[in-house]
Amino acid sequence: MTDTDRAAALEAEASALDAADALRGFRDRFVGADSPLVYFDGNSLGRPPAATAERLARFVTEEWGGRLIRGWDESWMGLPFAIGDEIGRVALGAAPGQTVIGDSTTVLLYKLVRAAYAERHAADAARTEIVVDRDNFPTDRYLVDGIAREAGATVRWIEVDRAGGVEPDDLRAAVGPATAVVLLSHVAYRSGHLADAAALTAIAHDAGALVVWDLCHSAGSVPVRADADGFDLAVGCTYKYLGGGPGSPAFGYVAERHQAALAQPIQGWMGTADVFAMGPDYSPADGMRRFLSGTPPIVGMLAMQDTLAMLAEAGIDAVRTKSIALTSFAIQVADALLAPLGVTVASPRESARRGGHVTLSHPTMRSVTADLWRQDVIPDYRDPDGLRIGLSPLSTSFAETLAGLRAVEASVRART
Ligand SMILES: *Cc1c(COP(=O)(O)O)cnc(C)c1O
Repeated sequence: MTDTDRAAALEAEASALDAADALRGFRDRFVGADSPLVYFDGNSLGRPPAATAERLARFVTEEWGGRLIRGWDESWMGLPFAIGDEIGRVALGAAPGQTVIGDSTTVLLYKLVRAAYAERHAADAARTEIVVDRDNFPTDRYLVDGIAREAGATVRWIEVDRAGGVEPDDLRAAVGPATAVVLLSHVAYRSGHLADAAALTAIAHDAGALVVWDLCHSAGSVPVRADADGFDLAVGCTYKYLGGGPGSPAFGYVAERHQAALAQPIQGWMGTADVFAMGPDYSPADGMRRFLSGTPPIVGMLAMQDTLAMLAEAGIDAVRTKSIALTSFAIQVADALLAPLGVTVASPRESARRGGHVTLSHPTMRSVTADLWRQDVIPDYRDPDGLRIGLSPLSTSFAETLAGLRAVEASVRART
């Protein structure tokens, strides 16, 4: 096949995939869908739904402007729990009463890992280790390091392949009678590796440890079965696949069976049973309220409601089906157009072990990324040489995916 034939065949395939895509109508509901810009970073900051513009304006004029401080009594106090339950229902396979919107991912992870460590260590003083992998997201590694210093614990590091992630055998070799807590990412931020959450959770439980799952790169893209897989605790971002907008607050999940036994370290008034009693001492509320600390970030919880509604309408299994089709197509195009230039796929090729993004490696990728951003093709770059292609299922088309990868091809070609 000539280059022109190959390109035409890929164009035809992209068109056929778009025509057959059961979710294709959702893309038009996002701001900017009519522009030729290629967005490959919906795994880092989701595009805003068009409905969100109206929701934000209405909030200012009607709710904030009209209800003023009455808004807290009328609806805002309940919002972290109502939206948490909806995230649980739509994206996490979690029954109500176990998910809440809290602080940033970093702070909420700190609170839950710290609480889990304290509980396990108090139950058995020989449990002094926190297990985390060497290629986990920086904030996860840094905060575990800080908790270990603060609590007199030891970090046990799992070494992992940067194009993969933590496998059951890796975890089996790392846990034992000294393990208190395991912190793992469900989808690895660099490689897109999808962990076997059921198997890894069971391995940690067999060792008597609790697991905290970081769901930042899976929630809203990969089905999570928190209750069915026996999760203990989890935290995830809402500004990635859940569309909450820049810096929107994270959600936390705590299995009902653990809630009463866990005490989180940021004891604030919003975590008490009777918030407005304003009593002399901290007394944690029952249920998920005890994991809150300060005043809930209401403005930050507005936008995610529109993406959540679309996820509920589409269904997370259909979202996953499209996600696999998108990443499989991206790998097929990379093999056809980019492999001849020396670009390699640094993500799992088996779709069952891959989340919603694909990383492509080549020594030129840092400058390729800068070049693409100038052309309105927007992936992101992760050291040492990875171009991340995030394919958010509701807002990305196959034609867009092909157009972006052809731009990558041209840019790499110009540099080699
Ligand atoms: C995006 C991401 C974070 C970000 O944490 P913030 O506190 O929101 O900055 C943490 N962990 C993982 C795995 C992520 O992908």
